[in-house]
Amino acid sequence: MKRFFLSFAVFVCFLLFILGCSFNKGKDSYSNCRVKIVTTMFPHYDFARQITKNVDGVRVKMLIPPGVDAHSFEPSAGDIREVKDADLFIYTGGENDVWVDKILKSLKKSSGSCLSFLDIFKDDGDVVLNSSGCKFKDEHVWTSLPNCVKIVKCIANKICEIDKENGTKYNENMGIYLKELNRLNNSFKDVVANRKRDILVFADRFPFLYFVNCYGLKYITPYSGCSSNTDVGSLDVSNVVKVAKRENVPLILKLEQSSGALSKTIADEVGAKVKVFYSCHNCSKEDFKNGKTFLNFIEENVKTLKEALC
Ligand SMILES: [Zn+2]
Repeated sequence: MKRFFLSFAVFVCFLLFILGCSFNKGKDSYSNCRVKIVTTMFPHYDFARQITKNVDGVRVKMLIPPGVDAHSFEPSAGDIREVKDADLFIYTGGENDVWVDKILKSLKKSSGSCLSFLDIFKDDGDVVLNSSGCKFKDEHVWTSLPNCVKIVKCIANKICEIDKENGTKYNENMGIYLKELNRLNNSFKDVVANRKRDILVFADRFPFLYFVNCYGLKYITPYSGCSSNTDVGSLDVSNVVKVAKRENVPLILKLEQSSGALSKTIADEVGAKVKVFYSCHNCSKEDFKNGKTFLNFIEENVKTLKEALC
């Protein structure tokens, strides 16, 4: 019996030792992290990830898990802790980020450690009307690449302020990224310059106001905005079908996270194909695991735009 207790005690000590090691390891890697960046959505996460590429001790965390609808996300207690501990918290702002405002007020987080995309464009005049006729600023600013250039510069500036020591590396990464954004912006311009038609037909929620305005394109959709609560009227759907037939469009576009039921119905009626136009609100679990980037999705959009307009 004595021997059994002795063996058991040795086993428990061994277990505690192993657990202690793994806890310390986790704690060390967390405490060794010099710069903690927390973001709400995928574009915000990917911009920060690219700017801080190959710099040791930087941790970028996306709060909204891959595959989750960004417009219906509810933060957990752990998420609030992440925001509290972040050296830089990057979010969109606006109508759909009411939960963020509440958290930031309760945490009394300093404005220097937060960056809202909408704040970057607060002096721009672009406002749209919502379904109740009220003026508001559309929050999907990242759908226009010239806007992304501004956003990436602001994020890089903030990170440089936090970690001056690695400023040269951050600026170098930013330069490489801005070149890619400009290259893709030129690709969109080329497609638009050679277009046969200038209307995009969406059978989905519509977050692309900044995108269509940027390239002078027209659009039609049965949805009035981007909220998941937006309803579709049958009159609106028949109008979309009418326009799609008149313009002889080859593609009916849908968002990446949509079920695609309505787009398939409209495409069948019109004799067109359904294709995804990436809004980048989020990416799927699989794409996230495979390391897909914001620019990968924009590359896809260039090809789809060509197919839709040419
Ligand atoms: Zn949206």
